[in-house]
Amino acid sequence: MNHLPIFLDIRATRCLVVGGGDVAARKVRILQSAGARIVVVAPDLCPALNAQKTAGEITHIARGFDATDVAGARIVIAATNRKAVNTLVSAAATAAHIPVNVVDNPGLCSFIMPSIIDRSPLLIAISSGGASPILARLLRVRLETIVGSAYGQLATFMARRRTLVRQHIPAPTNRRHFWERILQGPVAELLLGGRMEEARTLFSQELAKPEGPARGLVSLVGAGPGDPDLLTLRALRLMQEADVVVYDRLVAAPILALCRRDAQQIDVGKNAGHHSVPQKAINQILVDLAAEGQRVVRLKGGDPFVFGRGGEEIDALVDAGIPFQVVPGITAALGCAAYGDLPLTHRDYAQSCVFVTGHCQKDGLALNWTALAQPHQTVVFYMGVTAVTTISRELIAHGLPATTPAALVEHGTTPEQRVITATLAELPQVVAREAVSPPTLLIIGEVVRLHDRWASRTRGQSPTALRATA
Ligand code: SAH
Repeated sequence: MNHLPIFLDIRATRCLVVGGGDVAARKVRILQSAGARIVVVAPDLCPALNAQKTAGEITHIARGFDATDVAGARIVIAATNRKAVNTLVSAAATAAHIPVNVVDNPGLCSFIMPSIIDRSPLLIAISSGGASPILARLLRVRLETIVGSAYGQLATFMARRRTLVRQHIPAPTNRRHFWERILQGPVAELLLGGRMEEARTLFSQELAKPEGPARGLVSLVGAGPGDPDLLTLRALRLMQEADVVVYDRLVAAPILALCRRDAQQIDVGKNAGHHSVPQKAINQILVDLAAEGQRVVRLKGGDPFVFGRGGEEIDALVDAGIPFQVVPGITAALGCAAYGDLPLTHRDYAQSCVFVTGHCQKDGLALNWTALAQPHQTVVFYMGVTAVTTISRELIAHGLPATTPAALVEHGTTPEQRVITATLAELPQVVAREAVSPPTLLIIGEVVRLHDRWASRTRGQSPTALRATA
């Protein structure tokens, strides 16, 4: 180790910054966030520092640096663009045994500034010891995604309960086990998901019987429409922490590959009309796994609450008293719209957008066709391909022009994505002729004209876009 990493208490102490430019302003802000009183020595100040001076947030000594300025300072930072001045600052601080940092000049520093992830009271500081500040910064970005913004809340929650836990569990080893269980279990997960009330209740229950079996948790996680890049950070973290992953057919293989390697994977192969595992049985699997104390991720295509039967699964969990959370995902309509150049609304074409299921109930498609066949509206059909003949016929019968443009987005957001456009009247023939395969989304409305216009201008650059003429 070339440096000793320490966390310095500089609250209400005088810290000296030499230099009045943007770099100095950045250093001032960091020191202020740790509670320092700042003195800036510089002939001139940049606008940001000037504003701070006017607001009375810093003391400004308006002249060049003098070696006596370092007197009484807790730390000194030199951030001028003049090497001679920086050298002088370093020498003066060193002579007075005051820690000094000269920006971008490790040779003149007695301490270096790390990259910081601030989840106060939790702090993560990273340094490459001056070898590669960019490497440290990139590592910081990675850690930022793992240590979500709610970790500060988590740390505060734990801090407030330390005394209480010490009273309840006097033996240090038992106490350590208890905290490990809390931090790796549903209480922490609920806190990170913003479910404060439930976390508090569950914490009290855990504290009342700290020796009981570990509690399980079911996370209903939206996996998005197919492209793994569209996963949320929370989805990815949960997938990597899961004991068991219960997934549908809609979840793409590259997404499953991101789950923790030794997590048990259960395929419940749900597909419209072909439930290889009936919904009731899926509900029971989730309840049973969580009751065993497992961290269960219920991975669903798109968003769990958009035609995903997430509500039914939660009903079952609530009945069984199992803690749960829901992590939203990008639903097929949004993914297909973005990747297929199909804006769902547009000032000139559509002021509303409706998501509808085309999956037939036993008594056929019972939809409010009049409400769907409105002008200036985009209608998105999920599971609509099987019923495409009915959809085309009924929308036309209820007033939509037969020439209304429509788009079929097959395997949206994946490398196999295909966008086929046709008129509403042509749709059934086009579906048959193009041998459209699931999953496919059907988007109907004037906005589809934009796709065609853009495709005609960028022809050759969008190999997946096909114009079908019946
Ligand atoms: N919960 C999912 C929808 C489940 S219903 C979501 O929010 O996206 C299943 C239907 O979604 C499919 O029949 C298809 O119409 C649509 N769908 C899902 N993923 C799709 C994809 N990658 N491309 C096109 N349509 C998709």
